This record gives sequence, C-alpha cells and structure tokens, in this order.
Amino acid sequence: MRVQGRNDLHTHSSVSDGTETPAELVAAAHAAGLSAFAITDHDSTAGWSEAIAAARATGIGLLPGMELSTRHGWSSVHLLGYLFDPADPSIVAETQRIRSDRFTRAAAMVERIGHDYALEWDDVLAQATEGATIGRPHIADALIARGHAQDRGEAFATILHWRAGYFEPHYAPEPLEGVRLVRAAGGVPVLAHPGVSRERVPAEDYLAKLVDAGLFGLEVRHRDNSDGGVRRLLELAEKFGLEITGSSDYHGTGKLNRLGENTTAPDVVERLIQSASGTPPILPGG
Ligand code: AMP
Ligand code: ZN
Ligand code: FE
Ligand code: FE
Repeated sequence: MRVQGRNDLHTHSSVSDGTETPAELVAAAHAAGLSAFAITDHDSTAGWSEAIAAARATGIGLLPGMELSTRHGWSSVHLLGYLFDPADPSIVAETQRIRSDRFTRAAAMVERIGHDYALEWDDVLAQATEGATIGRPHIADALIARGHAQDRGEAFATILHWRAGYFEPHYAPEPLEGVRLVRAAGGVPVLAHPGVSRERVPAEDYLAKLVDAGLFGLEVRHRDNSDGGVRRLLELAEKFGLEITGSSDYHGTGKLNRLGENTTAPDVVERLIQSASGTPPILPGG
C-alpha cells in the first residue's frame, strides 16, 4: 500500500474562500505533517496546477478535488469530488454557471447590506483574488475591514445569517446531478459534512439514489457534524456500504479548523484512488 500516515481530504485556498494561495496551502499541509491532502475549493479547479507543482516539489501527496455547491429543496448540500477530469465539458459548464451566479448573488447581498451599513461592492472585490469563487466569507472579510464585525464567525452569526434579511441564495444543481457529473468526469463523489444535525442527514430513499448514481462515501469525521448526525451517518454508511472519510475543511485564518484535525484512513484513500479515472493523484514522495 502506497498511501500511509495522516490524510486530510478537504481544504480551501484563496481560489475560493481560504486565505492561503494553493502553494502556501501545500506548504502548510507539509508543515502539518500530512502524508497527503486534497485541495477542494468551492466550485473551482483553478488551484490544481499550482498545487500539483508545489506538491511535487515538497513530496507531499495530493488529491486534486473540488467542493461542488448543490441544493436539495431549501438545503445547501456540499459535494466533494476527487480526481475527476477538470476539462470535462459538463463540469466546466456547471461550475462556470455556479461561480457566475455566486458573483451576482453576492452583489445583490452587498446592495441590500449597503442600505444599513457602510459597505460597497469594491470592498468585497478587494478581499478576493482575481477569478476566485465568491462567497459570503468574502463579504464577511469586507465587513471586518469596515469594522462591522470582529471575525468571519461573528459576521456569519449576524449580518450574513440567512435570517438577517440580506441573504440571497445562488444557483446550484441537485445533489443527484452533482454525483452524476463527478462520476461522468471520472471522479469520486463524497458528501461533505452531511451530519450537521441528525435532521439534516439525507433521507434514506434519497441517499439510495445518490448511492445508485455512484456516491463513494460520507464525510463523517468533520467538526461541523453533530454527535447525533454522526451516529446516523454511521448507520447509513453500514447499510449502504459507503466509505467513511474525515477532514479538516481548513480555510487558513478564515476559520478555526486546523489541518489534520480529522483525517481519512489510508485504506479508504487507496480505494478512493482506485475508484477514480479522471486525474491521477500525486502520490507521497512524488
Ligand atoms: P456561501 O456558500 O457563499 O453561502 O458561504 C458559505 C461558506 O462560508 C461555507 O462553505 C463556509 O466555508 C463558510 N462559512 C460558513 N459559516 C462560517 C463561519 N461561521 N465562519 C467562517 N466561515 C463560514
Ligand atoms: Zn468555504
Ligand atoms: Fe462545505
Ligand atoms: Fe469546505
């Protein structure tokens, strides 16, 4: 077996709402003693080439991936996709559509917030790198820069909360469509943090459809999953033969999550790699 040690399968760079460039993220993952990790920016693969080059240079293992925004009814559902073909036309078109609508949606939120707080669209653009997937975290950073919040956590608990009156949803495909897209591009889909509460764990009949479409696993070990959610996820993983992953969801200084705080067992990473055909991983040691 070539995969060993500690493997963290969910991290973000400045290509979305993390605070480190892909190369800096690789350096941080290496410094944290990880054997391998996955870069999973929201709705974008723009960080892959920089991360791959940096991983080859340091010898850390890398699984290029993405956290795809999907939506089921009113619930936002995040789907991790690993080792798919980043040039797959359907993936390219769908992520482009999501990123574009995220941009429009963030501008609409800032317009609303601007009626009550000193905040302009340029404040938000100043917080994001060129071409980054825009999200509420960038609005949070702009609110912090303007002195309206101390940190992202406070901004999310107040002005950016969906109940605060400024929230606007953005376009996202159904989770089932996301699973199909990732598999059709040779990738491996895993539901991200699906146990925030027991009530928010996907219903069994819907999960069965995702499994039929090729769902590989559930991100059970994640700080946002509740104890009740984890117990339910473990039951469902057993019932459907799903793999169990764990990860940090590191966002640099944007969140408290630390690299390697949760990890995925090496044999699960091995099977994930075996299940993929879109993009090869960078194995530890080059
Ligand atoms: P959005 O997808 O634009 O609605 O923003 C949601 C994203 O914000 C999530 O994917 C998280 O990465 C981030 N996020 C959510 N809650 C918080 C929080 N309390 N503090 C920092 N970041 C958060
Ligand atoms: Zn994020
Ligand atoms: Fe997420
Ligand atoms: Fe994430």
